[in-house]
Amino acid sequence: MKYHVNGNCIGCGMCVATCPAIFRMTERGQAQASAADVSPEDASAAKWARSGCPVNAIETAK
Ligand code: SF4
Repeated sequence: MKYHVNGNCIGCGMCVATCPAIFRMTERGQAQASAADVSPEDASAAKWARSGCPVNAIETAK
């Protein structure tokens, strides 16, 4: 499982605070998801980050 941040991101930082192992902020002020598969240890936090995004910018990716 991987995640992808789409162009709806408003840069609120919630996902980065919730799951810093997977999400980081770019210089453009938007979040970016790790290109690597989410490890089992990070799966729960990553799911919380996705469900908490206020603009539904976090999608699952292959
Ligand atoms: S929670 Fe959503 S809007 Fe906020 S930084 Fe992450 S992807 Fe962007």
